[in-house]
Amino acid sequence: MKKYIIITIVLFLFACNDRANQNVFGLVIHGGAGTITKENMNPEKETAYLNKLTEALKTGYKILDKGGSSIDAVEATIRIMEDSPLFNAGKGAVFTSAGTNELDASIMDGNTMQAGAVAGVKTVKNPISAARKVMEETWHVLLAGDGADAFAGEQGLDIVPNVYFQTEERFKSLMRAKEKEAEKHGTVGCVALDKKGNLAAGTSTGGLTNKMWGRVGDSPIIGAGTYASNETCGVSGTGQGEYYIRGSVAYDIAAQMEYEQKTVQEAAQSVIEKLTKRGGAGGVIAMDRKGNIAMPFNTKGMYRGYYLNSGDLTVRIYKE
Ligand code: ASP
Repeated sequence: MKKYIIITIVLFLFACNDRANQNVFGLVIHGGAGTITKENMNPEKETAYLNKLTEALKTGYKILDKGGSSIDAVEATIRIMEDSPLFNAGKGAVFTSAGTNELDASIMDGNTMQAGAVAGVKTVKNPISAARKVMEETWHVLLAGDGADAFAGEQGLDIVPNVYFQTEERFKSLMRAKEKEAEKHGTVGCVALDKKGNLAAGTSTGGLTNKMWGRVGDSPIIGAGTYASNETCGVSGTGQGEYYIRGSVAYDIAAQMEYEQKTVQEAAQSVIEKLTKRGGAGGVIAMDRKGNIAMPFNTKGMYRGYYLNSGDLTVRIYKE
């Protein structure tokens, strides 16, 4: 008899734990990986980054807390970072070798497996919103170049002249890159889990400093820079896009979870190890349906953070 009571209590505790896990919601973000060190940072700049990451997290969290969808949270969070000149996405995007700005973004809904993306856009103020419009208003996944800009305008999104994206700091980076000292960080990404247990992920970038005009990176490629499936996890990557495309990095994390039953942390760590072996640099953020988070990177730093309904709000920059 005593044995049965103990078994019943254990089963009850397991059930409670499972239910508690299903109530987990929150989000994880990155603002790019690269040679980001304390020595290269000044206190004002560090505070500005930490504050903007916090603002972005709070924006997305508020949506989730009110019962909003993970897709809404991802879009709103990324828009905050796109509008900030601190990051290489939207305003403050890096320059191409031709001195222009060409932006890439994508978004994916882990519940429906729908996805949308834009590549090489030059006039959409918030490329992440254009990516969402592609997902919701067309039967395509990826629109590129002038067609994508025209579509965004038709959809009523804010259109700006290409100079809107340009900042003096990024122009200086282009000049340095032309002299072979490229700075290549600041892409932004977000993975969110809502109260219904639905995952979504998105990524937005200006690409790599001094990239050839017309070059498209991993950020708008589903499975490379962005991926989300309720079956496994949501992922957003940042780093040298060519390696992410060749390695199908975002999907590799989900695949390892699905086929090898790895945890999100094990799978994310494994793709970063593969990336390192292949000579690539960067990082990823990933989150599973229980709110487990991974944020591995092989660079000196990665702007990153998460906010969970346990009340845990964390923002970090350097390797710790
Ligand atoms: N992955 C981006 C690209 O290659 C750049 C970055 O994340 O820094 O376009």
